[in-house]
Amino acid sequence: MMNKRYLVALDQGTTSSRAVVFTLEGHIVAAVAQEFPQHYPHPGWVEHDPADILSTQIEALRGAVRKAEIDPKEIAAVGITNQRETTFLWDRETGACLHNAIVWQCRRTAPIIEQLIRDGRAGLIREKTGLVPDAYFSGSKIKWLLDTLNLRDRARKGEICFGTADSFLAWHLVEGHPHVTDATNAGRTMLFNLHTQEWDEELLSILDIPRQILPAVVDTAQVVGMLREDLLGERIPVASLVGDQHAALFGQACFSPGDVKNTYGTGCFMLMNAGDEFRLSKCGLLSTMAWRLNGKPTYAFEGSVFMGGAAIQWLRDEMHLISSAQESEPVAASVPDTGGVYLVPAFTGLGAPYWNMYTRGTLVGMTRGTGRAHIVRAALESIAYQSNDLFNAMALDCGAKSAALRVDGGASANKLLMQFQADLMNVPVQRPAVLETTALGAALLAGLAVGIYPTLKDTARGWHVMDSFQPQMDENRRKALLSGWKNAVAGAIYWADMQKNSD
Ligand code: ADP
Repeated sequence: MMNKRYLVALDQGTTSSRAVVFTLEGHIVAAVAQEFPQHYPHPGWVEHDPADILSTQIEALRGAVRKAEIDPKEIAAVGITNQRETTFLWDRETGACLHNAIVWQCRRTAPIIEQLIRDGRAGLIREKTGLVPDAYFSGSKIKWLLDTLNLRDRARKGEICFGTADSFLAWHLVEGHPHVTDATNAGRTMLFNLHTQEWDEELLSILDIPRQILPAVVDTAQVVGMLREDLLGERIPVASLVGDQHAALFGQACFSPGDVKNTYGTGCFMLMNAGDEFRLSKCGLLSTMAWRLNGKPTYAFEGSVFMGGAAIQWLRDEMHLISSAQESEPVAASVPDTGGVYLVPAFTGLGAPYWNMYTRGTLVGMTRGTGRAHIVRAALESIAYQSNDLFNAMALDCGAKSAALRVDGGASANKLLMQFQADLMNVPVQRPAVLETTALGAALLAGLAVGIYPTLKDTARGWHVMDSFQPQMDENRRKALLSGWKNAVAGAIYWADMQKNSD
């Protein structure tokens, strides 16, 4: 181990494949991202070409190692983290994919889910998997592929493999083509029983999915095999597979129950460590696995904001109120507050804790004096209000409010947003030195698996708070703002309900 000085993460995302080389202390040495095309064959459908995923991921890996100017012999292990739920089917004999990958965003299987709900299966699914039945998860996507391509017989004969991106990459990049996935990724299929930690026969039979196509489920930190020698000229252990949000939770060192992180990207993903006991949320959050180590699962609550940074893109691309996402900060800061304006950016409905798919974007509280800066500020603040709603839901589910919020993602660069977030939640917001928490988490998990770090806590040595935003807002003001937001959301929901009833 003496000459092993680096860990490499492959971060297979929705729009790009990235590779990051880290030191064992968790510092970034080099990172390379390769974008790939998105395919939209019909409105609401989203696909990726698996060949693009593979080639961009290999290019990124080679590029990052070249850029880091290191000897591949010095790499202790490789970890893989991935966009979750995206569904691949391939031929076990040839490796050839049988269809484009169906991306998590794709809505084509909504009718399958509606049927499951009509059949009264929602409670069962929730109880077994911790998930709310939705087209987002892999289960209905697999069913659609087997139905549409007429593959059930071949599937039963064991001629076909299903996998998410982690599994697909492991099959192609690891010697001997292991057909594996980790427990965090398995947990997003709507087919994996979180209680038994096994594929669930009852759910498989409801969706008519033959057991033979499913990968073996491994721990989140576990050597699944050796990286093919032709890739870097060296055999290196591939030692972690982990869903992206789970990797970020790990990369943010959220190891104790109540530790919580929020990633501010296009959407926001908040995950909280919920300890080693599986519990269902009373507030509409998902229950999911944080990670599984040595066969022992740690659970998490998960909530997402559909329109996070996307609300800022909307200001830029549709409203033309700003010319870049960065400009939102000085424009918002040019006014002391929104002047009573609230934007509820429910462009595609509201998720947890409201779960109202019919709600639409609503702007309230305008006066004759309302200007561009107020609206820009209201859009930024809406990201913090929505995140605060998730934070409070988690506090209700856990019985205690977390002591701080750890943040990352593109929009966490916005200081005004981070300060407002701390003010609303009344707890410090902590931004770490390494914002690539997803890649970092995968690398640290791989390091844990090969013994670089003796214990879980030892992986946290790379996590330092770089910027801390302390709550400064006076209590009365906070209460008034939160009550205004609550009323704005109620208004948005009321309008949507009235519209629905008048249809
Ligand atoms: P993703 O991984 O979802 O593509 P990123 O983490 O790259 O997202 O973050 C990009 C998102 O963050 C975009 O939606 C963008 O509008 C928003 N964003 C980036 N910088 C800022 C900023 N300074 N202020 C507000 N929003 C920002």
